[in-house]
Amino acid sequence: MSDPIARTGLAPRFWERKPLSRMSDAEWEALCDGCGKCCLNKLEDEDTGDVALTRVACRLLDGETCRCSQYPIRHQFVPECIVLGPRNMEDNLYWMPETCAYKLLWQGKPLYKWHPLITGDPESVHRAGVSMQGRTVSEFEVDDDDWEDHIIEEPT
Ligand code: SF4
Ligand code: SF4
Repeated sequence: MSDPIARTGLAPRFWERKPLSRMSDAEWEALCDGCGKCCLNKLEDEDTGDVALTRVACRLLDGETCRCSQYPIRHQFVPECIVLGPRNMEDNLYWMPETCAYKLLWQGKPLYKWHPLITGDPESVHRAGVSMQGRTVSEFEVDDDDWEDHIIEEPT
């Protein structure tokens, strides 16, 4: 299957040689493993700050490909979608999935061996069972008050 994320023409294992803050836009985008977990709605406890993950996905997430269906123009539909970058990583770490490539590198950890950058295959994240492929429900289908019924553990 062709990779919906452009990962060609990049230096071999660039993520091991460059800090996130020095990556080009193409390198930054190529780091995304396509798991879809950052596009799930979360529930945050106001008192404790704890974050619970739900399987209720953003309206733009395609639950089969785990891709944003309108990525380049997504803010027209979902203005609150966060544009992650080195400057706001620290503020967002608390809710980011544990296997997220950006979080791993920020924490000085290596990428998992199933990462498409390592396997050369965009399907490897799904085969490893760590993506949300086939596991989501759309936020169109679940009332906000019922998100609690859809809390899940992050597949890792
Ligand atoms: S959690 Fe990280 S690696 Fe997974 S889709 Fe989101 S940005 Fe990409
Ligand atoms: S707008 Fe797209 S990238 Fe942003 S949370 Fe929704 S599906 Fe994910």
